[in-house]
Amino acid sequence: MDRVWNFSAGPAALPQAVLARAQRELLDWDGSGASVMEQSHRSKRFIAMAAQAEADLRELLAVPDDYAVLFLQGGATQHFAQIPINLAGEGDSADYIVNGHWGEKAAGEAAPYVRVNLAASSKADSYLRLPPRADWLLDPRAAYVHYTPNETIHGVEYREVPEVGEVPLVADMSSNILSEPLDVSRFGLIYAGAQKNIGPSGLVLMIVRRDLLQRAGRPMARIMRYAEHAAADSMLNTPNTWGWYLAGLTFQWLKAQGGMAAMAARNQAKAELLYRAIDGSASYYRNPVDPPARSRMNVPFTLHDAALDADFLKESETAGLLALKGHKALGGMRASLYNAVPLEAVQALTAFMADFAKRHG
Ligand code: PMP
Repeated sequence: MDRVWNFSAGPAALPQAVLARAQRELLDWDGSGASVMEQSHRSKRFIAMAAQAEADLRELLAVPDDYAVLFLQGGATQHFAQIPINLAGEGDSADYIVNGHWGEKAAGEAAPYVRVNLAASSKADSYLRLPPRADWLLDPRAAYVHYTPNETIHGVEYREVPEVGEVPLVADMSSNILSEPLDVSRFGLIYAGAQKNIGPSGLVLMIVRRDLLQRAGRPMARIMRYAEHAAADSMLNTPNTWGWYLAGLTFQWLKAQGGMAAMAARNQAKAELLYRAIDGSASYYRNPVDPPARSRMNVPFTLHDAALDADFLKESETAGLLALKGHKALGGMRASLYNAVPLEAVQALTAFMADFAKRHG
């Protein structure tokens, strides 16, 4: 079977060139006669590869020297809980901006470890809008401010980094990291599960200002402490070697594509094409999100008649368009347009949508 156009929300499409290279190198990586998965993370080869991956990531995002880059495990969800343990002491509070499903989860997982102050929420708007920065009720004594710049399920995205003063800004960038240039210096801590824009699941990328690693947090096992992971170059225990390797290949691919400016232009063009098709369909298709809040990465949409959903999914799959079924919380459809999804995929999708509308009336 040929490769399909893959709109999965995550684990999501990886660049075909990355997969092809991994395939070529699978049995004999770097002249070692074994796969990258079959050798020690303490080997010279692996350490060199890991360092190169970090250097490439630093170059792509212009990560300042006073930030550590960590390659961790546990999924973003584990770090929902681990971040407050590291950044907040006993009795501290932290501000949470809840603009979708994942921000709500992050606040919930943090609650056993920090006093969660719900500083803003768009739940009453069904997360179809973003709480504007002017409405955030921030506490200047908060240990940190946590927000989710892109909400994968609800399809809303903050396009500007909010100003939060001296309090460190913590961002769950699982579904929009590496999609455009980023001013890392605006953040205290950035983290992202890998399975959308970086590589396979099981790897979490973290970029954290080094001074925050000195926070005492609370009593915890070494394995929980980010400072220990940083001191051990993310090899405190056996890392996800395969994930780290694939992330490194993805970073090389991103550089070859022209880096973040090129990806930003491409991602913008893809999203515009799809939103134009939806908005221009005379309400055959609808995206309910407030236009300025619309995500470039995840585009949920409904058909004018939900009775057509099953046909849409079946026919789209036959047409080589994979994983358009929406999240169960919203129903309908969702197309995720991460870096590895080319413009041709979106062109194929919009052509299919127009044809479907014509045939089904
Ligand atoms: N945050 C965001 C924005 C996500 O999209 C997801 C997963 N889809 C998560 C967190 C949870 O990630 P994980 O399953 O890796 O814990």
